[in-house]
Amino acid sequence: MVILSLQKVSKTYTAQGQTFQAVLPVSMEIETGGIYGIIGTSGAGKSTLLRLMNLLERPDSGHVLLEGRDLMTMSERELREARRSMGMIFQQFNLVHNRTVHGNVASALELARTPKRDRERRVMEVLSFVGLEDKAKQYPAQLSGGQKQRVAIARALASSPKLLLCDEPTSALDPQTTEDLLNVLMHINRTLGVTIVIVTHELEVVRQICTHVSVMEMGEVIDTFDLPKREGES
Ligand code: ADP
Ligand code: ADP
Repeated sequence: MVILSLQKVSKTYTAQGQTFQAVLPVSMEIETGGIYGIIGTSGAGKSTLLRLMNLLERPDSGHVLLEGRDLMTMSERELREARRSMGMIFQQFNLVHNRTVHGNVASALELARTPKRDRERRVMEVLSFVGLEDKAKQYPAQLSGGQKQRVAIARALASSPKLLLCDEPTSALDPQTTEDLLNVLMHINRTLGVTIVIVTHELEVVRQICTHVSVMEMGEVIDTFDLPKREGES
């Protein structure tokens, strides 16, 4: 089943009077349950393509369909609702520094106006899922990079998304922490059935967890292939 479909989406940026085509018309289908890698050199358009998937960037042309529904024609309210089923994490974690770990995760649910009691339960549930329930009262500055990224993952998972969009999630982490984080992502995919898209410039990330990979170059997807199943996978 296709969860997300990009249909000839393109994006042009204008800076200092110059226009620049960051993403040429790209079409792509994301199937439920997969882990999709988007790989390529810096400036290839990977991050832009990822941000087109949840309309964090609005495409100049084309359509983005989430479970068959076109995000481009949705009202603000419908779009906000749809976005709740797409979590996102970033290279620099993007945590709020003056809120605790608990507060950072809760913020996702405050926006969704989840009642306080459900919120508390859900925050502790997702924190324990990423192994950080004992850090609830700490502030981001007190955590390691790997722990910060786990908080960001917990925040993204709080609203029970079907899709998790990851923008260079391991690029600020050392090799061992990267390995641990990839295991967390794989666990989320297998246990919760969350479909994952990962932008990365690290071939190793793709090799370790992806089921499909798209290679980008100068705004275009120049190659797409399926990866063999990994050992231990049923
Ligand atoms: P990648 O993630 O593959 O490194 P990006 O999608 O970040 O590539 O960027 C693709 C191109 O678009 C780059 O040349 C970048 O400089 C340009 N670009 C990205 N975001 C913006 C922006 N907000 N304004 C202007 N140019 C941008
Ligand atoms: P802030 O984001 O303002 O730093 P929190 O979001 O951590 O603060 O706290 C907001 C509310 O959640 C408070 O009522 C606080 O008592 C409660 N709270 C904070 N941590 C926990 C926790 N580990 N378990 C249950 N409730 C908590």
